[in-house]
Amino acid sequence: MSDSTEIKKTGHLFSKSRLLSGIQCPKRLFLEVHFPKLAEQNDAADTRIKTGHQVAKVARTLYPDGVMVEYQDDLSRAVKKTRSLLAQEAREPIFEGAFTSSDVLVRSDIFLKVRNGYKLIEVKSSTKVEDYHLWDCAIQSWVIEDAGYPLENVIIAHIDNSFVYQGNDDYDGLFHQEDVMDSIQGYMAEIPDRIVKLKKVLDSDEPEIGTGAHCKNPFECPFREYCSPSANLPEFPVSCLPRGGKIVKELLEEGIIDIRDIPEGRLKSDVHKRIRRVTVRNSPELNKDAGQSLRRLGYPRYYLDFETIQFAVPIWKGTRPYQQLPFQWSCHIEPKPGELRHKEFLDTTGQSPLTDFIGELLGCLSQNGPIFVYSHFERTILGQLAEMYTNQAQKIQKVIDRLVDLLPLAREHYYHPKMKGSWSIKAVLPTIAPDLDYASIEEVQDGTDAQMAYMEAIDPETDEIRKRELARQMLEYCKLDTLAIVRLVKFFQEG
Ligand code: SF4
Repeated sequence: MSDSTEIKKTGHLFSKSRLLSGIQCPKRLFLEVHFPKLAEQNDAADTRIKTGHQVAKVARTLYPDGVMVEYQDDLSRAVKKTRSLLAQEAREPIFEGAFTSSDVLVRSDIFLKVRNGYKLIEVKSSTKVEDYHLWDCAIQSWVIEDAGYPLENVIIAHIDNSFVYQGNDDYDGLFHQEDVMDSIQGYMAEIPDRIVKLKKVLDSDEPEIGTGAHCKNPFECPFREYCSPSANLPEFPVSCLPRGGKIVKELLEEGIIDIRDIPEGRLKSDVHKRIRRVTVRNSPELNKDAGQSLRRLGYPRYYLDFETIQFAVPIWKGTRPYQQLPFQWSCHIEPKPGELRHKEFLDTTGQSPLTDFIGELLGCLSQNGPIFVYSHFERTILGQLAEMYTNQAQKIQKVIDRLVDLLPLAREHYYHPKMKGSWSIKAVLPTIAPDLDYASIEEVQDGTDAQMAYMEAIDPETDEIRKRELARQMLEYCKLDTLAIVRLVKFFQEG
């Protein structure tokens, strides 16, 4: 058992997530406790929490005899209830058991009695054990053992992404279990000292800690805007240099924060040199040869874009956890130069859209003509569909063979200072077609918004009016994406 005698009661009650915040950055913990209103809304964190709840719910179904400790908002009752269940020598697994020791309170996903002690199972929605999971388990284990329950096994149950869902709510095999008891010993030994130090942090002035890699590791900190206000950033921050980890760090250490202040000859990568050159000149660079290969292509022409969703817990038969599953496509068709038609597909029933998705797409794309896309993504998704629908594989392969990816072309031949180191369609479009504006679509302005809208639309609790509105915005968004590809081809061709 851990020695907790040095930890004085201070009135600061730490939850596991607070301690994890303090381990990421003591200043983050200080701000969370004393100035929580400074935190920004973090959609990624909200989605992560939601996914975590879904995954834990499925994990519980694998223990049908389990007993849930409710009292989510009354932690002292939850602790008492857990104690009483364990005092009964219950053999049933306990869900959400609450334990406290030395001002730290934890709740465990699944806790059960085994031969000579207890087994703790922490359920994770990731597909492998990460370092911060070990901290997470170490904190829980330290508190649980300090509270008088010796652990025999500490298990991380994470998603096995080779699992294929066979339907009927059968999730046996979804989790891979890894015993981390030995791996967490070193972390557990550090915990008393960490608690003492973090309690001091809370009773002192705001710690002076600068921003850095720790602000994103393991997760994006919600106080980034407070610690490093974007208003203080120059128009062309050096952090825009793509894959610039080492050089960006060096430049910042030298006090160079603006791309325009980087001395000539300082950068090695050709891409970085081009970004600097164009930014200093403040004038876009387009290689006139870029359009040559495009001008040679015939008609009809197709401009295609997919939207996809991933589920940690697969809901459609024959699919895997985190598989990219397409639910929507948009296609602009140009039968002859300048004549444009549009077709689209979106399924918000919540049933698997895959069969109709590919069937209608093959019908839309007919037999010949280049299909313009902007990324490798459509090729990957079509490849997966060819594996799933073997009877259509040949037809799908013919579609794959017609794809013309504009992203490498744009990367090689075009850069505008306003792209700020990015060749994403959202970065390129305002520089070539400022009249096409995603901001006019209120709620769906990027792929993540489209995924969130889709999740809401297929939720049985969403009413029909809201569903229709979400579908309208999703269709408008995807249509704009393919119209952007039309304009991009035109831009390159006209050079
Ligand atoms: S932004 Fe960085 S420095 Fe500021 S509190 Fe968060 S982790 Fe700490």
